[in-house]
Amino acid sequence: MENILSKFESYRLVQRSGEFNMFDPRARELANELRLSDNEGSISKDEWVYIIKNYAKLETEYEQTKNKIDYESIGDYWEGNGKYQEAYDNIWETQVPPKDESPIEYVEAVRCMGRLIYEYYNNGNCNSVEFDQEECEHCDGVGYEELSEDGDSEVCSFCDGDCYIDGDAYVNEYYADCLNKVRNYTRAYKLVREVEKLMTRKRKSAYTYSAQERSAYNLLCDSLMERVLLIKKSN
Ligand SMILES: [Zn+2]
Repeated sequence: MENILSKFESYRLVQRSGEFNMFDPRARELANELRLSDNEGSISKDEWVYIIKNYAKLETEYEQTKNKIDYESIGDYWEGNGKYQEAYDNIWETQVPPKDESPIEYVEAVRCMGRLIYEYYNNGNCNSVEFDQEECEHCDGVGYEELSEDGDSEVCSFCDGDCYIDGDAYVNEYYADCLNKVRNYTRAYKLVREVEKLMTRKRKSAYTYSAQERSAYNLLCDSLMERVLLIKKSN
């Protein structure tokens, strides 16, 4: 039962995707594919059955450990106290080209990470994410609703008079490229996914910039810098 809570987390990812019934062998295969891409050990059949049987108990334990993470203690690159801030700033000051991309892989990854950080902190991701627009069903796309028979009308409470509501969100080409470069360099698939999830969140749920929310960016940048420093050391 090695690392059972991390395996529980993978189980839950598949469960929430709704792809398969959890008794379907393909459910475990999918979970293991995800784990493999994050360099984590796979879940045995016995462990899978154990998770099914002990779901409630594991969920409680999992929530408890999650709540224990002290997000306030995670350094923040935007505020200048990231865990590897000095090395990060140094690459920006001495190696990142003022305008273009860098031909050096790790410098380019750092540049892309910086772009993602800036876009979140400074612009609330409004330049990086687009939403499919769907006609508001509440007012049939006219923007207001009739309230009484004498024709009084009020702005539609559902779409705020926009006539359209946000459908699926997607990261635009420029920032998708940034995410890809960071993903390919760090191979921190799970952390990149967290940032992507935050980016493509519905506009109505505005960012709070809580330490927990910011940790998506900071932990990914930590992971990136760890790889940069490791590679520099081995050269
Ligand atoms: Zn409407």
